[in-house]
Amino acid sequence: MNDQGLPSVITIDGPAASGKSTLGALLARHLGYTYFDTGVLYRALTYLVLQRGIALDDVAAMVRLAHDVDLQVLPATVDDGRQYTVLADGEDITRQLRSQEVERHVSIVSAYPEVRTALRDQQRRIGLQGRVVMVGRDIGSVVMPDADFKIFLLASPEERARRRYNELRAQGQEVSYESVYRDLQRRDALDRHNTLQPADAYVVHTDGLTPTEVVSTLLAMLEQRARTLR
Ligand code: C5P
Repeated sequence: MNDQGLPSVITIDGPAASGKSTLGALLARHLGYTYFDTGVLYRALTYLVLQRGIALDDVAAMVRLAHDVDLQVLPATVDDGRQYTVLADGEDITRQLRSQEVERHVSIVSAYPEVRTALRDQQRRIGLQGRVVMVGRDIGSVVMPDADFKIFLLASPEERARRRYNELRAQGQEVSYESVYRDLQRRDALDRHNTLQPADAYVVHTDGLTPTEVVSTLLAMLEQRARTLR
Protein backbone atom coordinates (compact mmCIF):
# COMPACT_ATOMS: atom_id res chain seq x y z
CA MET A 1 0.00 0.00 0.00
CA ASN A 2 1.42 3.46 -0.81
CA ASP A 3 0.64 6.80 0.81
CA GLN A 4 -2.30 7.49 -1.55
CA GLY A 5 -3.95 4.25 -0.49
CA LEU A 6 -3.08 2.57 -3.78
CA PRO A 7 -1.97 -1.07 -3.68
CA SER A 8 1.70 -1.83 -4.19
CA VAL A 9 0.96 -4.99 -6.17
CA ILE A 10 -2.12 -5.59 -8.36
CA THR A 11 -2.62 -9.11 -9.68
CA ILE A 12 -4.80 -10.06 -12.66
CA ASP A 13 -5.42 -13.74 -13.28
CA GLY A 14 -7.76 -15.57 -15.64
CA PRO A 15 -7.92 -18.00 -18.55
CA ALA A 16 -6.44 -17.46 -22.03
CA ALA A 17 -7.95 -14.54 -23.98
CA SER A 18 -9.96 -13.29 -20.99
CA GLY A 19 -8.45 -9.84 -21.58
CA LYS A 20 -5.67 -9.96 -18.99
CA SER A 21 -2.87 -8.47 -21.10
CA THR A 22 -4.91 -5.64 -22.61
CA LEU A 23 -6.40 -4.67 -19.25
CA GLY A 24 -3.17 -5.13 -17.33
CA ALA A 25 -1.27 -2.85 -19.70
CA LEU A 26 -4.03 -0.21 -19.67
CA LEU A 27 -4.37 -0.23 -15.91
CA ALA A 28 -0.59 -0.01 -15.42
CA ARG A 29 -0.42 2.95 -17.80
CA HIS A 30 -3.22 4.78 -15.95
CA LEU A 31 -1.52 4.27 -12.59
CA GLY A 32 2.07 4.78 -13.78
CA TYR A 33 2.91 1.24 -12.65
CA THR A 34 5.16 -1.38 -14.27
CA TYR A 35 3.23 -3.91 -16.34
CA PHE A 36 4.53 -7.45 -15.94
CA ASP A 37 3.00 -10.20 -18.08
CA THR A 38 4.30 -13.34 -16.36
CA GLY A 39 3.29 -15.53 -19.34
CA VAL A 40 6.37 -14.23 -21.17
CA LEU A 41 8.65 -16.13 -18.78
CA TYR A 42 6.85 -19.40 -19.59
CA ARG A 43 6.91 -18.53 -23.28
CA ALA A 44 10.62 -17.62 -23.18
CA LEU A 45 11.52 -20.89 -21.46
CA THR A 46 9.42 -22.86 -23.96
CA TYR A 47 11.10 -21.09 -26.88
CA LEU A 48 14.56 -21.94 -25.49
CA VAL A 49 13.55 -25.57 -24.79
CA LEU A 50 12.44 -25.98 -28.41
CA GLN A 51 15.43 -24.09 -29.82
CA ARG A 52 17.91 -26.21 -27.86
CA GLY A 53 16.19 -29.48 -28.72
CA ILE A 54 15.41 -30.34 -25.10
CA ALA A 55 12.87 -33.18 -24.97
CA LEU A 56 9.46 -32.10 -23.70
CA ASP A 57 9.59 -34.68 -20.92
CA ASP A 58 13.13 -33.83 -19.75
CA VAL A 59 12.05 -31.85 -16.71
CA ALA A 60 15.52 -31.80 -15.14
CA ALA A 61 16.99 -30.11 -18.25
CA MET A 62 14.15 -27.58 -18.32
CA VAL A 63 14.68 -26.69 -14.67
CA ARG A 64 18.44 -26.35 -15.21
CA LEU A 65 17.78 -24.05 -18.13
CA ALA A 66 15.30 -21.97 -16.08
CA HIS A 67 17.96 -21.48 -13.40
CA ASP A 68 20.86 -20.85 -15.78
CA VAL A 69 19.35 -18.48 -18.36
CA ASP A 70 19.27 -14.77 -17.62
CA LEU A 71 15.75 -13.65 -18.59
CA GLN A 72 15.01 -9.94 -18.57
CA VAL A 73 11.71 -8.20 -19.24
CA LEU A 74 12.32 -4.55 -20.20
CA PRO A 75 10.19 -1.67 -21.47
CA ALA A 76 9.81 -1.96 -25.28
CA THR A 77 13.12 -1.20 -27.02
CA VAL A 78 11.69 -1.39 -30.57
CA ASP A 79 8.63 0.47 -31.88
CA ASP A 80 6.88 -2.50 -33.56
CA GLY A 81 3.72 -2.64 -31.46
CA ARG A 82 5.28 -4.74 -28.69
CA GLN A 83 4.44 -4.06 -25.02
CA TYR A 84 7.91 -5.03 -23.73
CA THR A 85 11.24 -6.49 -24.80
CA VAL A 86 12.36 -9.91 -23.55
CA LEU A 87 16.06 -10.76 -23.47
CA ALA A 88 17.49 -14.25 -22.96
CA ASP A 89 21.19 -13.99 -22.11
CA GLY A 90 21.13 -10.61 -23.83
CA GLU A 91 19.45 -11.80 -27.06
CA ASP A 92 16.13 -10.17 -28.03
CA ILE A 93 13.62 -13.04 -28.36
CA THR A 94 10.43 -10.97 -28.07
CA ARG A 95 9.06 -11.70 -31.54
CA GLN A 96 9.56 -15.45 -31.25
CA LEU A 97 7.41 -15.69 -28.13
CA ARG A 98 4.11 -15.48 -30.06
CA SER A 99 5.02 -18.10 -32.69
CA GLN A 100 2.72 -21.07 -33.33
CA GLU A 101 5.44 -23.41 -32.09
CA VAL A 102 5.67 -21.68 -28.73
CA GLU A 103 1.87 -21.31 -28.56
CA ARG A 104 1.44 -25.05 -29.09
CA HIS A 105 3.96 -26.19 -26.48
CA VAL A 106 3.88 -23.57 -23.72
CA SER A 107 1.11 -25.23 -21.69
CA ILE A 108 3.01 -28.53 -21.71
CA VAL A 109 6.17 -26.92 -20.32
CA SER A 110 4.15 -24.86 -17.79
CA ALA A 111 2.35 -27.89 -16.42
CA TYR A 112 5.47 -29.28 -14.67
CA PRO A 113 5.45 -28.23 -10.98
CA GLU A 114 9.27 -28.15 -10.98
CA VAL A 115 9.27 -25.65 -13.85
CA ARG A 116 6.70 -23.50 -12.04
CA THR A 117 8.80 -23.45 -8.88
CA ALA A 118 11.89 -22.44 -10.85
CA LEU A 119 10.06 -19.51 -12.49
CA ARG A 120 8.16 -18.48 -9.35
CA ASP A 121 11.17 -16.85 -7.70
CA GLN A 122 11.95 -14.80 -10.80
CA GLN A 123 8.35 -13.53 -10.82
CA ARG A 124 8.42 -12.74 -7.08
CA ARG A 125 11.66 -10.81 -7.42
CA ILE A 126 10.02 -8.45 -9.93
CA GLY A 127 6.73 -8.30 -7.99
CA LEU A 128 8.40 -7.34 -4.73
CA GLN A 129 9.81 -4.19 -6.36
CA GLY A 130 6.27 -2.82 -6.03
CA ARG A 131 4.09 -0.45 -8.11
CA VAL A 132 3.45 -3.31 -10.46
CA VAL A 133 0.48 -4.87 -12.25
CA MET A 134 1.21 -8.59 -12.59
CA VAL A 135 -0.78 -10.67 -15.05
CA GLY A 136 -0.94 -14.47 -15.20
CA ARG A 137 -2.72 -17.60 -13.99
CA ASP A 138 -1.69 -18.14 -10.38
CA ILE A 139 -0.26 -14.77 -9.38
CA GLY A 140 -2.81 -13.78 -6.72
CA SER A 141 -2.90 -17.30 -5.30
CA VAL A 142 0.63 -18.73 -5.49
CA VAL A 143 3.22 -16.19 -6.69
CA MET A 144 2.06 -13.09 -4.75
CA PRO A 145 -0.54 -14.36 -2.25
CA ASP A 146 -0.07 -11.21 -0.11
CA ALA A 147 -0.87 -8.79 -2.97
CA ASP A 148 -3.29 -6.13 -1.78
CA PHE A 149 -5.56 -5.95 -4.84
CA LYS A 150 -6.47 -9.06 -6.82
CA ILE A 151 -8.61 -9.37 -9.92
CA PHE A 152 -9.85 -12.54 -11.60
CA LEU A 153 -11.20 -12.09 -15.13
CA LEU A 154 -13.86 -14.28 -16.68
CA ALA A 155 -15.34 -14.37 -20.18
CA SER A 156 -17.36 -17.04 -21.99
CA PRO A 157 -15.47 -19.48 -24.25
CA GLU A 158 -17.23 -18.00 -27.31
CA GLU A 159 -16.27 -14.42 -26.44
CA ARG A 160 -12.67 -15.44 -25.75
CA ALA A 161 -12.44 -17.32 -29.05
CA ARG A 162 -13.94 -14.33 -30.88
CA ARG A 163 -11.36 -11.98 -29.34
CA ARG A 164 -8.43 -14.26 -30.16
CA TYR A 165 -9.78 -14.84 -33.70
CA ASN A 166 -10.06 -11.08 -34.36
CA GLU A 167 -6.56 -10.54 -32.95
CA LEU A 168 -5.01 -13.20 -35.21
CA ARG A 169 -6.91 -12.00 -38.30
CA ALA A 170 -5.77 -8.44 -37.60
CA GLN A 171 -2.19 -9.77 -37.64
CA GLY A 172 -2.90 -11.25 -41.08
CA GLN A 173 -3.05 -14.89 -39.95
CA GLU A 174 -5.36 -17.20 -41.94
CA VAL A 175 -7.29 -18.98 -39.19
CA SER A 176 -10.89 -20.12 -38.83
CA TYR A 177 -13.03 -19.31 -35.79
CA GLU A 178 -13.55 -23.06 -35.23
CA SER A 179 -9.81 -23.81 -35.06
CA VAL A 180 -9.22 -20.89 -32.68
CA TYR A 181 -12.09 -22.13 -30.50
CA ARG A 182 -10.64 -25.66 -30.46
CA ASP A 183 -7.12 -24.41 -29.60
CA LEU A 184 -8.49 -22.40 -26.69
CA GLN A 185 -10.42 -25.42 -25.37
CA ARG A 186 -7.24 -27.45 -25.57
CA ARG A 187 -5.25 -24.80 -23.69
CA ASP A 188 -7.98 -24.43 -21.06
CA ALA A 189 -7.75 -28.17 -20.40
CA LEU A 190 -3.95 -28.12 -20.11
CA ASP A 191 -3.92 -24.97 -17.96
CA ARG A 192 -6.85 -25.87 -15.69
CA HIS A 193 -4.78 -26.93 -12.67
CA ASN A 194 -2.69 -23.75 -12.79
CA THR A 195 -5.42 -21.19 -13.42
CA LEU A 196 -6.43 -20.40 -9.86
CA GLN A 197 -9.07 -17.99 -8.62
CA PRO A 198 -7.90 -16.44 -5.32
CA ALA A 199 -10.59 -16.51 -2.62
CA ASP A 200 -10.08 -12.76 -2.03
CA ALA A 201 -10.12 -11.65 -5.69
CA TYR A 202 -12.64 -9.34 -7.34
CA VAL A 203 -14.22 -11.41 -10.08
CA VAL A 204 -14.96 -9.40 -13.23
CA HIS A 205 -17.04 -10.82 -16.11
CA THR A 206 -15.91 -9.07 -19.28
CA ASP A 207 -18.41 -10.40 -21.87
CA GLY A 208 -19.80 -7.54 -23.92
CA LEU A 209 -17.54 -4.94 -22.27
CA THR A 210 -14.78 -2.97 -23.98
CA PRO A 211 -11.33 -2.83 -22.32
CA THR A 212 -11.93 0.87 -21.58
CA GLU A 213 -15.17 0.04 -19.77
CA VAL A 214 -13.50 -2.66 -17.66
CA VAL A 215 -10.55 -0.39 -16.79
CA SER A 216 -12.96 2.39 -15.73
CA THR A 217 -14.68 -0.08 -13.42
CA LEU A 218 -11.35 -1.19 -11.95
CA LEU A 219 -10.15 2.39 -11.44
CA ALA A 220 -13.43 3.23 -9.69
CA MET A 221 -12.98 0.21 -7.42
CA LEU A 222 -9.42 1.30 -6.61
CA GLU A 223 -10.53 4.85 -5.90
CA GLN A 224 -13.34 3.68 -3.59
CA ARG A 225 -10.96 1.34 -1.82
CA ALA A 226 -8.36 4.09 -1.36
CA ARG A 227 -11.06 6.40 0.13
CA THR A 228 -12.04 3.84 2.74
CA LEU A 229 -8.37 3.28 3.67
CA ARG A 230 -7.40 6.96 3.93
O1 C5P B 1 -0.81 -15.52 -20.75
P1 C5P B 1 -0.18 -16.26 -21.89
O2 C5P B 1 -1.17 -16.80 -22.87
O3 C5P B 1 0.94 -15.55 -22.55
O4 C5P B 1 0.50 -17.53 -21.18
C1 C5P B 1 1.06 -18.57 -21.93
C2 C5P B 1 1.01 -19.85 -21.12
O5 C5P B 1 1.91 -19.75 -20.02
C3 C5P B 1 -0.34 -20.18 -20.49
O6 C5P B 1 -1.17 -20.89 -21.40
C4 C5P B 1 0.06 -21.04 -19.31
O7 C5P B 1 0.29 -22.37 -19.72
C5 C5P B 1 1.39 -20.44 -18.91
N1 C5P B 1 1.31 -19.54 -17.77
C6 C5P B 1 1.28 -20.07 -16.50
N2 C5P B 1 1.28 -19.26 -15.39
C7 C5P B 1 1.34 -17.93 -15.53
C8 C5P B 1 1.37 -17.34 -16.82
C9 C5P B 1 1.35 -18.18 -17.92
O8 C5P B 1 1.21 -21.30 -16.38
N3 C5P B 1 1.40 -17.15 -14.43
